[in-house]
Amino acid sequence: MSEVRTRFAPSPTGNLHVGGAHTALFAWLFARHEGGKFVLRIEDTDELRSTEQSLAAIYDGLRWLEIDWDEGPDVGGPCGPYIQSQRLDIYEEHIGRLIDNGRAYRCFCTPEELEERREIMRARGLPPRYDGTCSALTADEAANLEAEGREFCVRFRVDDRGATVVDDLVRGEVTFENALMGDFVIQKTSGYPTYHLAVVVDDHLMGITHVVRAEEHLPNTQAHLQLMDALGFAPPQ
Ligand code: GLU
Repeated sequence: MSEVRTRFAPSPTGNLHVGGAHTALFAWLFARHEGGKFVLRIEDTDELRSTEQSLAAIYDGLRWLEIDWDEGPDVGGPCGPYIQSQRLDIYEEHIGRLIDNGRAYRCFCTPEELEERREIMRARGLPPRYDGTCSALTADEAANLEAEGREFCVRFRVDDRGATVVDDLVRGEVTFENALMGDFVIQKTSGYPTYHLAVVVDDHLMGITHVVRAEEHLPNTQAHLQLMDALGFAPPQ
């Protein structure tokens, strides 16, 4: 079996909290137990909420806990840079690939339009998800809207058939219906990638073999597995 590689991937949007430290500890312990590598990656794709103080608090907190990392922003490594805001060209390239192969599209819907439609869905008792308005735009139509200077984000074209089964090492098989998902955003209007896109690209490029993370991320794994499949990446455990 290849070397075990785990990562701790905090977002510098607040203090390192006990839940984060708990996640870091288990990812670190598993890597150390297996004689593998432990990577620290900073997920600062929330450009409005990420701060230098939070980043400093993450380093301080981990050092205080005596959790050390083999690769990371300050120590470097073969898969760097390890700060997502320094990897924007890498995400751009992957988003371009998804657009080229038809798995992603530019969405020109405004926040107001989206909110209005979500309201209608809620009123009808439906789960509020993107209704796919821009998924049918031709390449020419999208290019014209872009040329008019209309702002856009990029959405992933979800395969809404059947279900996604996450074979989780702790929880076992967990099934999520694909019809409930809706085409989610992978690149924001600002040009920054979303968490979903960046985490999938980086876990792959950084050779992560085991993703150890909070249970709140289990539902996100449905989106991540679809993205990995569309990009031709083998999923980590
Ligand atoms: N950056 C995410 C967070 O702070 C964690 C990402 C992950 O472990 O997949 O919650």
